Amino acid sequence: MERVIVIRFGELFLKGKNRDYFESMLIRNIKSALKGVKCAFSRSQGRYFVENFADDDCGELIGRLTRVFGIHSLSVADKVAVRADEDFPEIRQSLVKAAKKAAENTEGKLRFRVTVKRADKRIPMTSAEIAAALGGSVLALGRYKVDLTDYDCDFRVDVRENGVALVYTDVIPGAGGLPVGCSGRGMLLLSGGIDSPVAAYMMAKRGMKIFAVHFASPPYTSDKAREKVAELRDIAEKYAGEIRLFVVPFTDIQLAIHKNCPANMMITIMRRFMMRIACRLAEAHDCGALITGESLGQVASQTVESMTCTGDTATLPVFRPLIGMDKDEIVAIAKKIGTYDTSIQPYEDCCTVFLPKSPVIHPSLASVRKAESPLPVDELVNSALAAVEEC
Ligand code: ATP
Ligand code: MG
Repeated sequence: MERVIVIRFGELFLKGKNRDYFESMLIRNIKSALKGVKCAFSRSQGRYFVENFADDDCGELIGRLTRVFGIHSLSVADKVAVRADEDFPEIRQSLVKAAKKAAENTEGKLRFRVTVKRADKRIPMTSAEIAAALGGSVLALGRYKVDLTDYDCDFRVDVRENGVALVYTDVIPGAGGLPVGCSGRGMLLLSGGIDSPVAAYMMAKRGMKIFAVHFASPPYTSDKAREKVAELRDIAEKYAGEIRLFVVPFTDIQLAIHKNCPANMMITIMRRFMMRIACRLAEAHDCGALITGESLGQVASQTVESMTCTGDTATLPVFRPLIGMDKDEIVAIAKKIGTYDTSIQPYEDCCTVFLPKSPVIHPSLASVRKAESPLPVDELVNSALAAVEEC
């Protein structure tokens, strides 16, 4: 029996005049997720369908589709023929197969209902009449009783216009959110840690196309650290689509701060440079915001006062999607999206180079600006930007 994947999208964002725009983004993202697997995509009556794929590819296709934002849910359906002059033999066969499977390894009677949607108006029976007729085949198994409101199994039958019906039971939750690309672009500050890849996921989920910048301090940070960041980008791309990654050499800036500024302000001033450089890159790539993986109070550089001091040099809004989350909530998402195991590999980050023993926790903006004043800010920023590499 041929199988079809039914894709339902979030209804809410598809209302109103933006519908065509959202849908075109979603369709583009779905097609791009399906690339490399032989199958056919189509849309009809407010749903999308993927068919003509090899049985062995079904799991891979479902895996890819559950990572596409904007998809509400998915089902794998049997595609069967329907003729108006017959008693739905193929639908019954598929239903009985599904009902037997659902009853495997269970005891007692299961409650069920059959839900029919009938687009094919050549069939004279109403949807409810068809459902009642089909229910008879399930009842005949002796393992089920009908319960329309409180059921264990909802067997669904979509009778479509072209003489076929789709029969399915399971509804697989989709990734939710909005299609990537429909909420503008954001420049993510991507370290090698646990948090920033999760921040990418969160903003992509709201439809943002992600670009990323990583600050590296060779020779204090190694090629391995850089490869790790590229690997995190690759994993995040499974959800967010293509993420261009820019690597900024940060050693000269760190050395200049180390030499000219008070040690306890090292991190704060470093972050101010990261913001400046990230904003310049963001503007060059039409990004409307920066994104960081900061979470309130997690470390000294993530207090309100520290973030005020670092945000001071940003000329774009800074989105911090993890700001109100606990570490274990962030870790749970990192594990779900598959970045965790890579994030915990122990390669040094530029922030750990020249780490002061006691960083200031509640810096005042005036004192930080003053501490930074000996530095040739524009010159340092421009030379770092001149040496950016795409990775
Ligand atoms: P993460 O797990 O994302 O590294 P963290 O808990 O280690 O976060 P910090 O090191 O204080 O926190 O970094 C806070 C944020 O600053 C990061 O989430 C990231 O957005 C940004 N950041 C830190 N280091 C770098 C870097 N080397 N390159 C780019 N962005 C960075
Ligand atoms: Mg970090």
